Amino acid sequence: RFITFEGPEGAGKTTIINKLQQELENRSIPAIFTREPGGIEISEKIRSIILDKEHTTMDGRTEALLYAAARRQHLVEKVIPSLKEGKYVICDRFIDSSLAYQGYAREIGLEDIFSINSFAVDGYMPDTTFYLDLDVEAGLERINQNKDREVNRLDLETLSFHRKVREGYLILQEKFPERIIKIDANRTVSEVFKDVLYHLQRKYKL
Ligand code: C5P
Ligand code: MG
Repeated sequence: RFITFEGPEGAGKTTIINKLQQELENRSIPAIFTREPGGIEISEKIRSIILDKEHTTMDGRTEALLYAAARRQHLVEKVIPSLKEGKYVICDRFIDSSLAYQGYAREIGLEDIFSINSFAVDGYMPDTTFYLDLDVEAGLERINQNKDREVNRLDLETLSFHRKVREGYLILQEKFPERIIKIDANRTVSEVFKDVLYHLQRKYKL
């Protein structure tokens, strides 16, 4: 019961995850909610290195390795123990972010990113991944509206980079249709959330 949320900037992953947390709490279903890169101290530190606006010289492969390292530590310290306690683990981003962003959009290659991440996750994969799909312009518009959001290094990326991220996700969804459920995130929060709950109920009899 390892569930991840994926999607481009402004798709509403955090909002939907917060609603899901409320829902599972209301139903007294044991679950933890976490995020990548981060979720625990070591990985949050790695996150701040990766996303630091000053780190403009960071090499793409360095970035990819740091994401994989943050993922490994978070998995070992938080995800695996919670799964072993029988809890649902709901994670904001996981391996597919690396595949879409570093593998596809940064053109390091899906194969290479998959291989360093196979080393990092050592067999642990999500059972279900919700990919919140959104028009790129709409996503960028949404994040510009959100004044609370912290500015990060990725905000310097071009529109065409973000288009490639989306393309990458769509390719992944076609490759792993059993695991990755595509959700149309161009709609209201309540419509998106309704779809997410529907799939969770169908799959886990929640
Ligand atoms: O999910 P969140 O918005 O917190 O992610 C922080 C930033 O890291 C985003 O700008 C996202 O695009 C970027 N990111 C990335 N590659 C990953 C994961 C996240 O470029 N593998
Ligand atoms: Mg978010």
